Formats: sequence, structure tokens, C-alpha cells
Amino acid sequence: MSDAYEPRQVRKEAAVSKVGLCRERIYSYLSMQEAISDRVRIRMHDQGISYINSLKFTKYRYRDREIIYSQFQSLLSYPQINHFIFTRWGGYSKRPFHELNVSFWVGDREEDVRRNISLIKDISEAKKIISLNQIHSDKIVCIKSEGEDYVKEDGDGIITDIPSIALMIKVADCQSIFMFDPKRGVIGNIHNGWRGAVKNILTKAVHLFVEKFGSSPSDILCYISPSLGPCCAEFRSYSEIFPREFERFKVDKFHFNLWDISEYQLRKEGIPKENIEISRICTRCRPDLFYSFRREGITGRSATLIMLSM
Ligand SMILES: [Zn+2]
Repeated sequence: MSDAYEPRQVRKEAAVSKVGLCRERIYSYLSMQEAISDRVRIRMHDQGISYINSLKFTKYRYRDREIIYSQFQSLLSYPQINHFIFTRWGGYSKRPFHELNVSFWVGDREEDVRRNISLIKDISEAKKIISLNQIHSDKIVCIKSEGEDYVKEDGDGIITDIPSIALMIKVADCQSIFMFDPKRGVIGNIHNGWRGAVKNILTKAVHLFVEKFGSSPSDILCYISPSLGPCCAEFRSYSEIFPREFERFKVDKFHFNLWDISEYQLRKEGIPKENIEISRICTRCRPDLFYSFRREGITGRSATLIMLSM
């Protein structure tokens, strides 16, 4: 690979200054955490549209609900793709899973989760939603035919070239990484938490794009969803769980930049830097928008969806 990844000083400094900002905000949150979880602080203007970094947030009224979802602005320029990063707002789940929880395995009422998934299916206009029983593994399912059902299958990544099937990943702090090869018409959605990073599920995903779908790494676009930022990714026992090479992604004594680790792993497989977009929104710092396992413990999971249009 010609443009080998080199961590740069500038980058590290930027991360550290973000840490400072984020911490201040956490302290102000702590005293009023309950209140904030109940209130959407994002200010919507121009018919329910707002922006944070590269993400466009849309408020969408459907049935009796008011759903807020976000999308990467640059991915919106590909008409062959439909994608959604749903926030926690607009579903039927009650506390502490309020409101748009899509996981059956966190203790929420099954009926509410079903209604939430049905809302998401309608909004995305997907023929079918595929999701897995996520286990923080490096197992990836490649879908080559429409008929199969994977809901009980274990795994943490889904790749397909079949249109109208929405690939759904459920997250609360973990990264969901959309992958898209516009030349070959292949998409993937990968669940990547720190365990996924240690197992390097992203390398496996790139290999599957190449081996099963004939992609060239230089054509694959990658988008990292809102997830645990360097401000909140604290690992006190990192020396026992992380490989040595992660240590250069430390931003202070116990905090790591998991976003940069993902970028590093993707670039090592030949994905160009300009193909990787990181939303740089920390889910633990934004309980007003996203579920955070680290902040809330017992909480829901948000849905991220990507789909090839017909
Ligand atoms: Zn944070």
C-alpha cells in the first residue's frame, strides 16, 4: 500500500482538545441527566432539518410518532443507496428504553420493539430488514439470495448486493460502519465495538468485499456512525484487553480513540483516507439523541440501516 497510515501530531492534538470540550459538557449533564434524556436538545429548523458535523438530522412525522433520524450528507448524493441512522426518538418503547429501541434482548416489551421495527421498515421502504443476533464477534454474513432469514443467526456484519434488503445493525455506543462500493453495487453494515476492533472485523469485511463481490479496496466508501468518542472511551484495563498496536491511539492515560483505530484498520487494507468518513459524534456525550450503554447501562439500541434501492 503506497499511502501507509501514519498517525499525525495534528490529529492527536485535535482529539485532545475535543476531550476537553466533551468533559465540560459531561459535568454539566451529570446533574440533570434524567431531564436531558427526556428532551431533544438539537434545534430543528427549516422544516425539521438540522446538522451536526457531516450528519443531516431530519424530524419526520409518521403515524402518531415524531421520528428523528440522521444521514451522511455525502452518502445522500448516491441515488442507488438508502441509509438511516435512527436516533432514540419517535418509537413506542417506555423508559428506560425510550423510545425507538430495536433490540429484543435488552429487557424491553416485545410488542413495543416490534412496533418500532415496523415503523423503521415503513420509513425506509425496505422490502425486508435483515438483522443478526450480535455477539461482538468477527462473524460476517454475506447475503446472496432474498429468501433467507437471519434473525436468529449470530454475527456482527452483513454484506449484500441484493436491492431492497435493509441491513440493520443495533448500537448503543458501538460503531456501525456503512460500507459501499458504488462500482460493484455492494453494501455492508458492520457492528464494531472495542471487541470488534480487537478481533479486527473491519479487515474481514474488506476481504469479503474483495473475495466474494470482486471489489477493489480503493473503491469502497466507509462511514462511521455516532459512537463512543475519545472523550468517553475509557479502558482502565487496556493492557489486558488491547493489542500493543492500539497504544498509539491513546489520547490520555486511559482513553482511546476508537474512531482512529477503525480508520487505521481500514487504511491498512487499502481503503484510501478520503473514502473514510467519521461522524465524530460521541453517543455518550449526546444522550439527548442516542442510546449510550456506558452512560445508561440498561437502555435501548438504535438502528442503523443501509439498503440498495431498486
Ligand atoms: Zn464523549
